[in-house]
Amino acid sequence: MGQIRELPPSVVNQIAAGEVVERPASVVKELLENAIDAGSTRVELSVERGGRDLVRVADDGSGIAREDLPLAFRPHATSKLVGAEDLHSIRTLGFRGEALAAIAEISRVRCQTRTADSEVGSEIRIEGGEASEIKDCGCPVGTSFEIRNLFFNTPVRRTFLKSDTTEAGHVAEMFTRIALAHPTIHLTYRSAGKTLYDLPPVTGLKERVAVFFGRELAEALLWVESEVDDVHLWGYVAHPSQSRSSAKGQYLFVGGRYVKDRSLAHALAEAYRGLLMVGRIPVAFLHLELPPEEVDVNVHPTKVEVRFRDSQRIYGQLLRTVRQTFLTSDLHGRLQAPP
Ligand code: ADP
Ligand code: MG
Repeated sequence: MGQIRELPPSVVNQIAAGEVVERPASVVKELLENAIDAGSTRVELSVERGGRDLVRVADDGSGIAREDLPLAFRPHATSKLVGAEDLHSIRTLGFRGEALAAIAEISRVRCQTRTADSEVGSEIRIEGGEASEIKDCGCPVGTSFEIRNLFFNTPVRRTFLKSDTTEAGHVAEMFTRIALAHPTIHLTYRSAGKTLYDLPPVTGLKERVAVFFGRELAEALLWVESEVDDVHLWGYVAHPSQSRSSAKGQYLFVGGRYVKDRSLAHALAEAYRGLLMVGRIPVAFLHLELPPEEVDVNVHPTKVEVRFRDSQRIYGQLLRTVRQTFLTSDLHGRLQAPP
């Protein structure tokens, strides 16, 4: 008798869910990104107990057509990608069609949605991957997701969650990343019934930085920008005096997606060389826009790491651009300037 068996779909799905959903903040990330991909202008996030009891995201985006609703929760089902060739030209935040399936496998989900051409809304409930019938419901155009009791059917995963306060902190960080990446979207965040952020749409990144990092830091930001061939780098670096003891003030976005990149963090540190005290880490909010074929975001399910086709070139551009900004600005004068 052979020993190898194909795993049943429920086990496959739970394993896959583990890669996408680590904690409530992962759910928040996926739902907020879906709302943005749906063209929303207003997105409301609320959580209870750091997201372990409830994550709710409501948007005013395109909505989901009734016939698509069950499909949205199927693994590898997406409206954002058609063929393999599209993998090289991704313009949406999502494309793997994994998130909703993963979330629905390990929680209790309710989704209400309505498209503009439909009179009534549609509602579906899914518990541990088991979908209900679709029902009519009254709701505005857009989509709302309620994710309750995360990991209710995976007790081991649940024990890995930290305190409600810690989980709420991770949720807030996820919200911050999205809010910095998308200043033109009205975003609100409620935790345990209290509105923590109500961010009206703004045109500039600086206003959003001020909300999260304070006026003083925002006022001392230096604009950086360069366009080399088809790579556009823009954003702000903070005055060296605003540097921190951790990398918590460093935000890098590639095509509107928050990413972590050691090489670019290194380029930034190099640009500040000689301007910082030992152990201090620069604060920066930088966006990179480059043709989709120049960057591979399909490295990991959470897409927080990317691979550049020519990372040396981007390293050099970032280093030179920030250096140049320091050379042409009166850093010392700014340091002394009255508030
Ligand atoms: P992906 O985002 O990679 O396509 P998801 O599992 O996150 O995969 O979502 C599956 C599909 O459900 C999406 O492709 C989209 O068509 C639909 N969808 C999810 N969230 C929303 C939303 N907030 N508004 C409109 N459509 C949505
Ligand atoms: Mg998605």
